[in-house]
Amino acid sequence: MFVGGGSQPMQVAVRTADLMSQDSESSTSNPGSGSRTQELKEIIMADVANKQPESVDGKFYVDDQCIDCDLCRETAPENFKRQEDGGYSYVYKQPENDDEATQCQEAMEGCPVEAIGEDG
Ligand code: SF4
Repeated sequence: MFVGGGSQPMQVAVRTADLMSQDSESSTSNPGSGSRTQELKEIIMADVANKQPESVDGKFYVDDQCIDCDLCRETAPENFKRQEDGGYSYVYKQPENDDEATQCQEAMEGCPVEAIGEDG
C-alpha cells in the first residue's frame, strides 16, 4: 500500500490532528473553546463542491484532496476505484448493503487527508 505520495499532505493531516488533540485537552479546562475544533474540522473535511467528477451521485464522494494512497480502494473495493489518468480515487458505486456502508464509513474515517465526504 502506498501512503504519502510526498510528505506534505500527510504532514498537514498529522499537524491538524495534533492541533485538534491540543484543543480537546484545552477544552477540559475551558469548556467553551470547542468552536476551534469545529473550525479545524471544517478546514480539513471533504468539500462536496470539489467532488471528483467521476464520483457517482449519492452520499459518499471523493474530493480533490485525494493523494492516491489506496486506502479506500482496499477498505471498500466495491465502492472506490482509481482514476488511472488523474491518479486519484472516486466513488464509482454507492453502498448497496450494510457491509458496503460500513466499509465506506471506515474508508472515510481512515482517509489520511479527509478527502472522502458523506454529505453528497
Ligand atoms: S480518497 Fe483518501 S483514502 Fe482514498 S486514495 Fe484518496 S487519499 Fe487515500
